[in-house]
Amino acid sequence: MLRVRNSPALLAEQRLAIQRLNYIIYFTKEIKKMNTKGNFIPREEYATIRQAIITLLKLRTLSARKISAEVRIPEKEVLYHLAHIREAIRKHERHLVMTPAVCRKCGFTFKKRERLTRPGRCPVCRNEQITEPVYGIP
Ligand SMILES: [Zn+2]
Repeated sequence: MLRVRNSPALLAEQRLAIQRLNYIIYFTKEIKKMNTKGNFIPREEYATIRQAIITLLKLRTLSARKISAEVRIPEKEVLYHLAHIREAIRKHERHLVMTPAVCRKCGFTFKKRERLTRPGRCPVCRNEQITEPVYGIP
C-alpha cells in the first residue's frame, strides 16, 4: 500500500495518481479473491476505475455505497461513473441493470426512475427511508 503524504509539495494530481495506483493494487487482490471459478481476468479489465466498476458489476450486483467501499472512491463519484458506464457499455450491447429503490414503509417501487441516485422520499407516503438501488451488468 502506497502512502499519500500530506506534503504541500505533492500536487493534487499526484495524490490522485497514488490513490488510483493503490486502488488498482487493492482491486487486483480483491478480483483474485472474488474470482473463485479460476477464470483469468486480464489486467486491462481493471486498469481504470470505470473498467473496475464494470468488472465488479459483471461479477455481482451492488449498491452505489457498496461500489464506493470496494473501489474506495466517494459515492457521488460512483454515480458519476455509473452514468458514463451506462452509456459506454451500450456500444457493446451490454446494459447497466438497476434494481429500483423501494420505500421501506409502503413498498412503493421506483420502477420508472431513470436517475441513478437514491430517491429522497416516497411520492406516496412521504417516507424518507428508501432502499438503495442496486446495479448490475448481466
Ligand atoms: Zn412510501
